[in-house]
Amino acid sequence: MTKQTNNCDSCAQKGSCKDQNDGQECTCKVNRMAKIKHKIIIASGKGGVGKSTVSVNLARALQMKGLRVGILDADITGPDIPKLLDIEEARLRQGQDGIEPALADGIKVASMALILSSRETPVVWRGPMKMAAIKQFIQDVNWGDLDFLLIDLPPGTSDEPLSVVQLIPELAGAIIVTTPQEVALLDSRKAVNMVKAMKIPVLGIVENMSGLICPHCKESISIFGAGGGRGMAEEMNVPFLGAIPIDPGVCALGDRGQTFVESETKACASFNKIVERLLEMFN
Ligand code: ADP
Repeated sequence: MTKQTNNCDSCAQKGSCKDQNDGQECTCKVNRMAKIKHKIIIASGKGGVGKSTVSVNLARALQMKGLRVGILDADITGPDIPKLLDIEEARLRQGQDGIEPALADGIKVASMALILSSRETPVVWRGPMKMAAIKQFIQDVNWGDLDFLLIDLPPGTSDEPLSVVQLIPELAGAIIVTTPQEVALLDSRKAVNMVKAMKIPVLGIVENMSGLICPHCKESISIFGAGGGRGMAEEMNVPFLGAIPIDPGVCALGDRGQTFVESETKACASFNKIVERLLEMFN
């Protein structure tokens, strides 16, 4: 990524810009997130629990309610959002007012996958380079006016998710996605504690892959167990937003780059309740 220079002529800070007053090239310090009403992080203790699936479907559900939405894919080494939204061919481009996000049917998206030369190119970067990329996404993407920006964090509680949380100003809160088995819950508890330690409100826990509805007898089979997410929420005194069953339709749609919130899947009805609960918090 290139160093971002400001479009100084149209910049509101022109008169007071320290860089310009010092006769230097202006590296843009303008808060490009200033016109975003609510910034929410989507976190998980582990990878593979459905964090990105929740992010894209939440974005689509909010958009279907007429809200303006963006997704910042902060997972530098495993950026899956473009695949899940079928915009892998899109590219971020330099505009007059910063890096222009790609559009997935109206959802603004910034992701490392929209910079790499191909979908198989690995990002074999050490921490400082990954942080530089994340910083650039946070400072230089021209998000414009948004009702919600969803930030899909890398899994875990290491340096990277921690730094993303520290770098983004005025976060509205965090959603923690978990699956019901004890190993996932153990790591999710750490994610909840990380968010709490940073004084960010925990908006709630989502329990994903919560039982499989048998297509024959329609009974729920608790493949990974069920209810662990709710139990953890009660134990940690944070809201429980709801559970999403394992649904082969969710996976098939995700693989095709489609969201499930417009579909007839079992998961869709459960997910809509989660969205309603979340929106009640912002009314
Ligand atoms: P993460 O972001 O936590 O690594 P993903 O969102 O990429 O996880 O999901 C991992 C895989 O699991 C994807 O193939 C996705 O389609 C699938 N998946 C997620 N949630 C469900 C679900 N409720 N039912 C079936 N498959 C799911």
